[in-house]
Amino acid sequence: KGEFIAVSTGMNLGGQISVIAKDYIQKADVVYALMPHTLAERWLERLNPNLKSLQPFYGVGKYRMQSYEEMIEVMMDEVREGKKVCGAFYGHAGVFACVPRLTIDKARKEGFRALMEPGISAEACLYADIGIDPGVHGIQGYEASQFLFYNQSINNAAYAIMWQIGIVGEHTATQFETKPEWVEVFVERLKEWYPLSHEVILYEAAVLPIEEPRIERLQLKDLPQAEMSTKSTLVIPPARALELNIEVLEKMGLKPEDIA
Ligand code: SAH
Repeated sequence: KGEFIAVSTGMNLGGQISVIAKDYIQKADVVYALMPHTLAERWLERLNPNLKSLQPFYGVGKYRMQSYEEMIEVMMDEVREGKKVCGAFYGHAGVFACVPRLTIDKARKEGFRALMEPGISAEACLYADIGIDPGVHGIQGYEASQFLFYNQSINNAAYAIMWQIGIVGEHTATQFETKPEWVEVFVERLKEWYPLSHEVILYEAAVLPIEEPRIERLQLKDLPQAEMSTKSTLVIPPARALELNIEVLEKMGLKPEDIA
């Protein structure tokens, strides 16, 4: 009977994949891969020669939901034929990625076994590369365009991560880049919580063992001119110190000096 397993490959080629994910790839009848680099596809091919790339389903000018629909269907067709299908997705297959989840939902609805194996996301890498512990100030994450288009808000005493900053404002879901004027509006919106001189970080994890991560610190106001790609994540450090909640402390019979 067919099955669909979505595995995560980590960001950096070959080294960040889990033992269990590798095992699923090796035992699959067919592997569909969405990798950040063709070298990563070649590496996966060595684990399982029946490797197919999902990358050709994307296209500039092509509606992304259409691409996703086609990816889901091509994998589901093989599941329906009774094959053990593995979808290999870079980073964590469940983080800012809809195809793995939608395929799992569909497979389950049609009565097939389907599951996801977690992995090392861009966020996991940035904790290591930039040296942020989310437990120190707290952390929040948003999809940059969603943050722009909807009434989201920020806790500027905690870190903020803006995913897909490289396509912020790209409302047509057909292009793979943003425009300086859209980034201007994004910066304008962030002014509600941060001064224009606030230091932000453009982060790109290494995806090949020979690469170094990009950790570029710049002022918020310079963001529209900064180089960004579909690999960039924006990290915004806190702009103010944590404040004690005196009301809560009182309810608990505590004073500020009681907090270790
Ligand atoms: N599933 C992936 C994320 C896919 S969504 C994961 O687990 O990380 C695509 C977004 O992820 C990008 O817009 C960017 O915000 C982030 N991203 C992808 N590649 C990255 C890289 N090499 N370094 C930092 N962020 C990256």
